[in-house]
Amino acid sequence: MTFKELGLKKEVLDAVASLGFVEPSPIQQEAIPQLLSQEKDLVGLAQTGTGKTAAFGLPMVNQVDFESKKTQGLIICPTRELCIQISKDFQAFSRNFRNANIVPIYGGASIDTQIRQMNRGAQIVVATPGRLMDMIKRKRVDLSQVNYVALDEADEMLNMGFKEDIDAILSNTPETKQTWLFSATMPREVVRIAKTYMTDPIEITVGTKNASAKNIEHQYFRVNDRDRFDGLKRIIDFEPDMYGVIFCRTRRETAEVAEKLMKNNYSAEPLHGELSQAQRDRVMRAFRKKSIQLLVATDVAARGIDVDDITHVINYNLPDEIESYTHRSGRTARAGKKGVSMLLLNNREAGKLRQIERIINTEIKQVKFPTGEDICKKQLLQLIDKVVAVEVKEDQMAQYLPAIEEKLAELSKEEIVKKFVSAEFNRFLSYYGNSRDINDTSSSSRGGDRDRGRGRDRRRGDRDSGRDRSRGDRRERAPRGDRRERSSRSDRSDRGGEGFNRNVDGESTTLFLNVGMKDFSDKGHLIRVLCQEGGVAGKNLGRIRMMDNFSFVDVAPKIAGKLLKGINGVEIEGGRKMRAEVSNQ
Ligand code: AMP
Repeated sequence: MTFKELGLKKEVLDAVASLGFVEPSPIQQEAIPQLLSQEKDLVGLAQTGTGKTAAFGLPMVNQVDFESKKTQGLIICPTRELCIQISKDFQAFSRNFRNANIVPIYGGASIDTQIRQMNRGAQIVVATPGRLMDMIKRKRVDLSQVNYVALDEADEMLNMGFKEDIDAILSNTPETKQTWLFSATMPREVVRIAKTYMTDPIEITVGTKNASAKNIEHQYFRVNDRDRFDGLKRIIDFEPDMYGVIFCRTRRETAEVAEKLMKNNYSAEPLHGELSQAQRDRVMRAFRKKSIQLLVATDVAARGIDVDDITHVINYNLPDEIESYTHRSGRTARAGKKGVSMLLLNNREAGKLRQIERIINTEIKQVKFPTGEDICKKQLLQLIDKVVAVEVKEDQMAQYLPAIEEKLAELSKEEIVKKFVSAEFNRFLSYYGNSRDINDTSSSSRGGDRDRGRGRDRRRGDRDSGRDRSRGDRRERAPRGDRRERSSRSDRSDRGGEGFNRNVDGESTTLFLNVGMKDFSDKGHLIRVLCQEGGVAGKNLGRIRMMDNFSFVDVAPKIAGKLLKGINGVEIEGGRKMRAEVSNQ
């Protein structure tokens, strides 16, 4: 089937052609004709990577009147990343309509710019729920003329606590609109939304329900907790061309794993909600450009990561919500490519394998960690391939050749080869030379035999990890990519979030305060001052990180302005004036 046969306008077909899309993907073949010919609601069970943005985007762009300035189409999605990506896609789909204005609305960026963009008349708005609610309240977005609403990654939005916002947003749209809902999984809450807001929807399922993409190979490794990081390194070392995302469970673990990888000279960067928006943008830009090889991320921060070519997803630890595994693994094998999703499992977690297999409807195969010898061989051959492929710049080399030849005159050809390879390769040999087996073989069943396995592992682990650590310390490797500046922020007063529990990823604002532990005895003291002087309720304050001389406070964006006004200039003990500003760490 061709795009032309789907019934799209010439302007849209030309845009599709210039994007290089040759034939519609299965979800596009199913959805587009139905959305063009019927005024019906739609529920689509589909992952990212299936082409679902174009599946609802092309029909929407095809039907919107770009001569009018009214907002007719609305897409709601969970994260800023996804919001930007969808807007870019829509801008590309509508490039042949002269007056098309597609506006992304998301938290963590200037609301004034977004207001200005809206004032020009946006026919289609792509938004995250929190900021959109803000704009609706400020009467900067008028949804009364909306004909099409698409809810993208509905399950993620609900996971992230946007239920009320979605309800409120939908209540601002006309009854007559068409609602198109897309979700990778169908938990009860998504079904509720579908039932509440949709009438007799068309149902489209790409692949089986809750299944992940077919071209992902799922693998698991059995490992002792104390060997988890070494296991990760082995996997990475065995796949020199890996371009991957490593998922961790918490922000702290994400930061730690990334830090350890960087210390070991891997090209890795963390991505988590504690970083400022500017930092996250920088990391994502570098990752997209492939100047970073490995992204270490939390589930929340990685939502909406839409990067083609990711070869590996590594689940360093399992997600809290097992269903998130589908989202994690869906970051690879996009746009028809192949990918591998790997899990590192300890004895206790092995029992969850079956649950995941049920969700993805696919077997997860056990694989063994490569041995030190496997890794050395692979790296060596990769090095040789690189040497063979290297371009020799004869002209520039010529002047140095006599000196080089003179120095090497004493050595035979074989010796020269060995020495050059060793110069590059000794660090691998010395690190992996006598490495032990880190596969956890304590229990052959998937999760049974726990106690016996744990006891034995602990003893073996204690002995071996000491030896391995000292070897690891000596290891030296050349940098493999650009390195980021290290965060100097202390974690010491990071006692977890309090107060509002919203998506810190875009939906909260981080403030920098020039006061810290030296000024206030504890977090409670600081909170009291902020509430009193700022005139805001404590529930609007989120995570607070206090260092000796300064602090970072996450706050609900809607009160940030008021709080800043209230606390700036307030005199604290010792006569110093409090100063606060939006952080751009
Ligand atoms: P999505 O599932 O919408 O996130 O799309 C995944 C990727 O597939 C994006 O990079 C799209 O640009 C690309 N894509 C979508 N539809 C097609 C198509 N029909 N042919 C080729 N690539 C496509």
